[in-house]
Amino acid sequence: MIDVSEYRIPAGTKVVLADHDADDKTGFEGGKKKGKKALSRLNKQIAELQRRLWAESRQGLLVVIQAIDTGGKDSTIRKVFTGVNPQGVRVASFGVPSEIELSHDYLWRVHKETPPDGYIKIFNRSHYEDVLVVRVKRLAPEETWSRRYQHIREFERMLADEGTTVLKLFLNISKDEQRQRLQDRLNEPDKHWKFNKADLADRELWDHYQRAFEDALSETSTDYAPWYVVPANRKWYRNLVVSSILIETMEKMDPQYPKPEEGLDDVVVT
Ligand code: AMP
Ligand code: MG
Repeated sequence: MIDVSEYRIPAGTKVVLADHDADDKTGFEGGKKKGKKALSRLNKQIAELQRRLWAESRQGLLVVIQAIDTGGKDSTIRKVFTGVNPQGVRVASFGVPSEIELSHDYLWRVHKETPPDGYIKIFNRSHYEDVLVVRVKRLAPEETWSRRYQHIREFERMLADEGTTVLKLFLNISKDEQRQRLQDRLNEPDKHWKFNKADLADRELWDHYQRAFEDALSETSTDYAPWYVVPANRKWYRNLVVSSILIETMEKMDPQYPKPEEGLDDVVVT
C-alpha cells in the first residue's frame, strides 16, 4: 500500500496544480510490472473490506471521481474495483443534464444517487461539474456558480453527519499526456468510439479548466470530505494510489460483520 497522505488536500489549502507532479511515482519502489502485481493484492483487500461493509449494512461510501477528458475515470473504476461483489457497488455517471434535471436545483439529481447503507457508490463526474464545465463554458453566471462551493460543502457535511463517508479524487494528468491519449484514440480503431471532436474544443480551454479545478479543490476540500490529487499520467501508479486511498478510508470506517445469533455452536444441520 502507498502512503497517500501527501496527495490529500488539507482543508483551507490554496491548490496550485502546477505544484502537483502528474508523473509522480515516488510512493512505490518498483515499476509497472511490480505495480500491477501489487494492484491485485490491493484489489483483494478492497474486496474484503467491501464484503464487511455489505454485511454490516450500516454506513455507505461515496467516491467522487473527477478529471479532465481522457483523465482515466472509466479505467480507474474498472481496475480498482476488479473483484468486488457487484451487488454492493454502483456507478452513477453524470452527463449533460436532461430537461427535467435542469428544471430542478443542481443537487437534485446527485442526492438521489448517494449510497444507501452497505453500498459503495462511485460518481463518474458529479455535482462538481456544476462549478467546472458550467463555469468554463459559461452555462451560468459567476454569481450562480460561485455560491455553489458553500452549498457543496454543506451538502457533503450533511451526508457525512448522516453516515456517508465522502471521498473525492481528482485524477491529475498533464496537458501533454492528454495530447497523447487523444492521439491514441485517433490512431487505434478500437478506440475511435471514445473520440469526440468536442474534446478538442475543451482542450483549447485547458487553462480555464485547470483554474476551475484549482478553485473547486481549494474551496471544498474538508476534513469530512477531503480531495486527493492523484498523479495520473502513469495508469499503474494511479491505480495503486486510488486503491490505497480506498483501503485507508475503508479501514477507518472499520465495518464489522454483524454479531451472529446466540447459541449457534449447538446448532447441527441435519
Ligand atoms: P462523458 O463523461 O464523456 O460521457 O461526457 C459527459 C459530458 O457531460 C461532459 O462533457 C460533461 O462536461 C457534461 N456534463 C456533466 N455534468 C454537466 C452539467 N452539470 N452541466 C453541463 N454539462 C455537464
Ligand atoms: Mg467526454
